[in-house]
Amino acid sequence: MARGKKGSTSKKERDAPLPADKWQYMKPFGSFIINDKDGELEYTFKKEDIAAILPYGREPGTEIEDWEYWVAKIKDIRAQLHPDGSNTVWAKVQWFYSGRDVANVVKSFESDAIGRFERIYADHDDFIESESVNSVVRVIEFDENDVEPEYIPRDQFYRRYTLEYKARTIKPKPGTSACVCKEPYNPNDNSPEMVMHFCPRPSCRRAYHQSCLLAGNHKEAKEVKREAKGSASTSGSVIVSNPPNSQKPATRSARKHAVPVKSQKASTPEVQPTSAFASGSSSSSSSRALRLLACSPDTDDFVDLESLIPLTVISTAVEDDAEAVDPPKKKRRGRPPKKAPAAPSHEALVQPPRSLAAALAEIPPELREIAEQPMVRGNAFVLGGVSGNIGFVTRARRLVYQILEGSSVPDDWMLQVFASSDLGVVNAIVKIGGTRKALPPVICPNCKSAI
Ligand SMILES: [Zn+2]
Ligand SMILES: [Zn+2]
Repeated sequence: MARGKKGSTSKKERDAPLPADKWQYMKPFGSFIINDKDGELEYTFKKEDIAAILPYGREPGTEIEDWEYWVAKIKDIRAQLHPDGSNTVWAKVQWFYSGRDVANVVKSFESDAIGRFERIYADHDDFIESESVNSVVRVIEFDENDVEPEYIPRDQFYRRYTLEYKARTIKPKPGTSACVCKEPYNPNDNSPEMVMHFCPRPSCRRAYHQSCLLAGNHKEAKEVKREAKGSASTSGSVIVSNPPNSQKPATRSARKHAVPVKSQKASTPEVQPTSAFASGSSSSSSSRALRLLACSPDTDDFVDLESLIPLTVISTAVEDDAEAVDPPKKKRRGRPPKKAPAAPSHEALVQPPRSLAAALAEIPPELREIAEQPMVRGNAFVLGGVSGNIGFVTRARRLVYQILEGSSVPDDWMLQVFASSDLGVVNAIVKIGGTRKALPPVICPNCKSAI
């Protein structure tokens, strides 16, 4: 892929930039093609392409690592005609600076926290000769607060900042969108405790260093014990919540929206609104997994996983109206029952809903495992790449919610989660330092959700 041509111009060292007055009289082109002298290979470069450029002073043919290339966007292409009939093709480019380049301009900039393949898009134009252009590359835009950041392999150019050259300003200011410590995400930091946990909720969407969370005591209290022995541990009766002979079958809305059916709720304490905390299993690790699963990228509300499971209503009424024929409603907010449930002439049999455990058991175990991962990025999580598993887990959680709500498992769920056939479960499962040991049960400092 590397052409290995000699770079004849440079970013800042260049002594004699092409005068702008010459440029304006040159003939414009949309692209240029370079033929390698020693082969039949042709390389085409177009306007708007981002190109890897052989650094100034590097001899062709010498070994160069991919991350050492200079990177620039081709903004314009023009040919300079010489009296002898030959011509020189020039490109007007806009540079992507390396961390070290920026540190030369902005003294306070910490280039140590910039990845080797990271570039900073600068508002700095320059003219380069086409011969120094090596290959077309991609520079992925990385938004640290995005719930679906594109996966960034560790040998892939990416950028998250821009540089205003004259103002000597970096935007966004490093660290302002991250942890309580205001230190930015450092993709070079290998230490396991410096991985960042991401809270995907809409009003959070922020990543925190594990070490900062632990130092601030942002971790789950010993509520697991309370679950195990407290009143919430009647989870068995929550799951099988409607006794077959009950005079007043509880409705789903009774669980989720207490107001219209307050008296029912009071008389059947075993169907008190419950949560994922108590459901399914009494083991703390499983509860932690469900709490992670319940942290939604799409709502700031607590997601009651159990309440997602639709209720099946079997109508036995002869003369009843269409209401009973309606598909089961998940949400009945503000809609009190029209008929007293005890009315003898017609009745709708409310099937006991499937338990959360039963519904989860129908989800492919790998999909569920991804959805129950903490959202993490950091150099110690090698297979998470630069951007971590956040996008995968976001999409896996959405799929799990949909399946709990009654959708079937899509055949291509892997592709939906990974958005690429090159990636797989190993890229989503957090593995730090060679082990899958569970990370500490940290919570979001803002919303207190498990993260
Ligand atoms: Zn921090
Ligand atoms: Zn949060």
